[in-house]
Amino acid sequence: MSRLADDCFALADRLLSVEEAVTEFRSRLAVVAEAETVPLAAAENRYLAEDLVADRSVPPHANAAVDGYAVHVDDLAPGAPTTLPVNGRAAAGHPLGRSGRRGEAIRILTGAPLPTGPDTVVMQEDCMVSGDRVTVPAGLRRGAHVRPAGDDIRAGDTVLTAGRRLGPAEIGLAASLGRPALPVRRTLRVAVLSTGDELRAPGTSVAEGQIYDANRYLLMALLRRLGCDVADHGIVPDRADAVRSALTDAAADADAIVTSGGVSVGDEDHVKAALEAAGGRLHHWRLAIKPGKPVALGQISGVPLLGLPGNPVAAMVTFLLVARPLLLHLAGAEPVPLRRFPVTAGFGHGKKPGRREFLRAVLETDPSGALVAHRHGREGAGMLSSLAGAEGLVELPEDVAAVAPGDPVAYIPLSALI
Ligand code: AMP
Ligand code: MG
Repeated sequence: MSRLADDCFALADRLLSVEEAVTEFRSRLAVVAEAETVPLAAAENRYLAEDLVADRSVPPHANAAVDGYAVHVDDLAPGAPTTLPVNGRAAAGHPLGRSGRRGEAIRILTGAPLPTGPDTVVMQEDCMVSGDRVTVPAGLRRGAHVRPAGDDIRAGDTVLTAGRRLGPAEIGLAASLGRPALPVRRTLRVAVLSTGDELRAPGTSVAEGQIYDANRYLLMALLRRLGCDVADHGIVPDRADAVRSALTDAAADADAIVTSGGVSVGDEDHVKAALEAAGGRLHHWRLAIKPGKPVALGQISGVPLLGLPGNPVAAMVTFLLVARPLLLHLAGAEPVPLRRFPVTAGFGHGKKPGRREFLRAVLETDPSGALVAHRHGREGAGMLSSLAGAEGLVELPEDVAAVAPGDPVAYIPLSALI
């Protein structure tokens, strides 16, 4: 099955903003994850496959918002307290079982259905009770402390749209409608591999010139946070035939492939050649961000391939900004705008205009209560230690050449992305 047009990832040969490229790619990529039905208790972090339309109202009946007495406002004397007989009791799950009559009060507890007749609930704290009679104050507003039927949801309302990520509130909402199961997208299966002759798996010994493979573990953890199933395709040496067979295997087994390393234009960068030898296509995407260049997007046997840079910080930042929205799209998720929060720079920094820069940051609250962002860890696309413990990214737009302490800057919390 070929899911992608051949030149799906071909874009104009110019530096692109992240938004431009992601929007463009999303329009060319179809959702690959089919729908399935899962029990509500297993639906967390899945993506809704169809709109959820209420087939009943919540609450289904008018009910008391407080503990007190149900009365009819027209039975009350204007301007003076009124004493009424208490003739019955309604509690949550135990309706009165008859209509209310004019001239009586009904003891009612929070959540109990309001009997037909009374139109108002008086809070018990405002009442005086003596034997089986209650005195209620003057000046009650009709409808006070009554939650009308359908106050939360009306039958026929679209309460969740297809693509919504199911979090605790969404699952609670579906339960309130009585749904035991929901149609969701199947979990996206993503193959991950690292390229590089220098890489060794943690737990094995390293010789001179070798390093441990950090990216595969980093990327697998990021993918699991996104709700993907991960297929671990290990470390692939910098040899065209090895990369080609690894990519062919990965494509047979996954909805998307995420690789790191081997996609810059150095001699050892075999991903492009390997992909083309296997009948796929790879497009280098000149991404105007730091850290980040280069990112490559391609396809093999109709399966999209996201080729991230080898430097670990660049791999993580490009995963979050580029791979994440594309994978979410393939998984059937609705687009969720990435919010930037205004904070104050607690640092000075010079940058090259023309590209967007992301700095690792932590926040501090200054004595006036304002949030101040400080740089975290050392600069450099390889400094994984600077990402550990970072709370967020400060985003410096293309046109900015310098930031001084006290300047307003845009802050993206990592918790919104991971
Ligand atoms: P590359 O993009 O393959 O040219 O790699 C750029 C830099 O990132 C080199 O210093 C690599 O050794 C390093 N690198 C590549 N892949 C990984 C990895 N999986 N874990 C840690 N460092 C890596
Ligand atoms: Mg490499």
